[in-house]
Amino acid sequence: MSLFQQTDFNASCACAWCGETTVVEVDPSAGPVQRYVEDCQVCCRPNILIVRFAPDGTAAIETLPE
Ligand SMILES: [Zn+2]
Repeated sequence: MSLFQQTDFNASCACAWCGETTVVEVDPSAGPVQRYVEDCQVCCRPNILIVRFAPDGTAAIETLPE
């Protein structure tokens, strides 16, 4: 049995520019809703990532073109 002390895990999101699905590392300990900018690993254009953590710990990521 684990104590659920995981501080980061990976979630997938689709680039708002090229549509490519990439995997990003998210950190639930930084808050239930997070917003930051990350460059796409494929087309290098900046995406605004809005990460929302559900009560069960799963992350949903919305991407917007910056
Ligand atoms: Zn892209």
